[in-house]
Amino acid sequence: MLALQGSCLCGQVRYQYDGELPHISMCHCQQCQKAQGTAFVAVAPIEADRFQLLSGAEALREYRATPGKARVFCGNCGSPLYSRKDDLPGVLRLRLGTLDTAVTVSRQFHQHVASKAPWFELLDDHPQYPGQAQL
Ligand SMILES: [Zn+2]
Ligand SMILES: [Zn+2]
Repeated sequence: MLALQGSCLCGQVRYQYDGELPHISMCHCQQCQKAQGTAFVAVAPIEADRFQLLSGAEALREYRATPGKARVFCGNCGSPLYSRKDDLPGVLRLRLGTLDTAVTVSRQFHQHVASKAPWFELLDDHPQYPGQAQL
């Protein structure tokens, strides 16, 4: 299969991922709302060793809103790219808005809907979890 490609808003950071996205998690927690500046984040877990930065490694910055979890973004344009937990270094959680390759993933769910933005209505049929998704 073709590798997935993605980039940040300014284009300095470009990446490639050689794998499939197992599911899409839409997280409505308040940290994700603030980190993205919108109602929720859409992420997919990917394998770190199949993720390759094509350019822009020097632009990457990270922020830790929670100890043990780095949110990695482009220091030039601010695009959130992925997060990584210290105790799970083999897995990145890719921010799907940065993909340039069109993907369709059938398995999707919403988590932390108990704290979702009151102005955002969930109108799809994907499973909803009040807190962390129970997978
Ligand atoms: Zn950028
Ligand atoms: Zn979240």
